[in-house]
Formats: sequence, C-alpha cells, structure tokens
Amino acid sequence: MDSLFHALVGAMIGEIAPKSIKRRRLKGALAAMSPDLMNIPSYLYLGIKTNSTLWYPQPDAFYQNPWITEHWTWLCWNMSHSFLFWGLIIMPLVIRSKWTPLFGIAYLSHLILDLPSHSGIWSVQPIWPYGWLAEGWFDAWAWNLRQIFTYSTLPAFCWFLAYRMRLQKWIVWPSERQNAHAEVI
Ligand SMILES: [Zn+2]
Repeated sequence: MDSLFHALVGAMIGEIAPKSIKRRRLKGALAAMSPDLMNIPSYLYLGIKTNSTLWYPQPDAFYQNPWITEHWTWLCWNMSHSFLFWGLIIMPLVIRSKWTPLFGIAYLSHLILDLPSHSGIWSVQPIWPYGWLAEGWFDAWAWNLRQIFTYSTLPAFCWFLAYRMRLQKWIVWPSERQNAHAEVI
C-alpha cells in the first residue's frame, strides 16, 4: 500500500490499543509506515541513475528500470518486508526494549497489506531470504495522488469506526477498567 494508507491503518490500531500507551495513534502510524524506510536506498539509487527531480523516481522510472529489483539496495526493502525479519528481529527488539507490542502489531499490518498490493516482479518476498514471491493483485505503490487520497478514505473510515467503538466503550482494556474503578472510588 502507499504510506498514507499504512499510516491510517496504524493509527486505527493505535486507537484500539490501551489508552495507557502515550500517543498510541502516532506510535501506531509511525510503526506501520516504518518498513518502507528501507525503500530509501533503492529510491535514491534509482533517482540518481535516472536523474529524477530531487533524486525521487516516479513509478514510471521503476517500470522502465526493472533491474533495480536485482540491485543490492532492493535487498533492504526485501528484508524489512519479510515475516521472518519481523519474527526474528523486530519482535525480539520490541520485547527486549520493553516497547509496547503496538509497534510490532502495527509493523505486521504493513507486511500483510503489502502482500496483495505489490504484483509481478515488485511482489513481496514474505519469507525472504527465501526468494518465493507472493504474487499480488495490483500495484498500490505506483498510485498517483488522486488514487492515494481516494483509497485512503477506507482506512480513515475504519479508524473513525474504531474511534466510535472506543467512545461507546465497546472495547475496554483491563487497565482502563481498573482506572475507571479507581476514579469511582
Ligand atoms: Zn511496504
């Protein structure tokens, strides 16, 4: 998916998370966007190679230069989008650093959403370094701004629903129940 879609899904997960987590929506959004930080090396490299404005290649530049998926900079992206990387590196890091599991869950949402939204040679390798490509159905990464904003209404609506559910107390974590009880006393 595109970064806005990922961020909104992460914010929705943060909305559902316990209120004891400070800035939970922001943390969810940032964690959900973070796997694509590993795109920066391949974007920069292709941007320089194709003389793109501000070294930022447009989707056409990727389609015209499919060799980029064979370049080492693409490995960074493959690594950060691997469920093995998530299980063996990200989750142990989250647990050891005593970060909230929200980081790990929001990160995982990115990996799941990218499975259908990258197709052909741009597909995700979910068990990288084993090279099996999970063939997706469409290329959300190549969406233009109009498509990005149009499709972002879906996770935005889901976030709104989650917000309403929290407001109606349909989702109440034990920590929130105890606090509520303490306030009553
Ligand atoms: Zn991604």
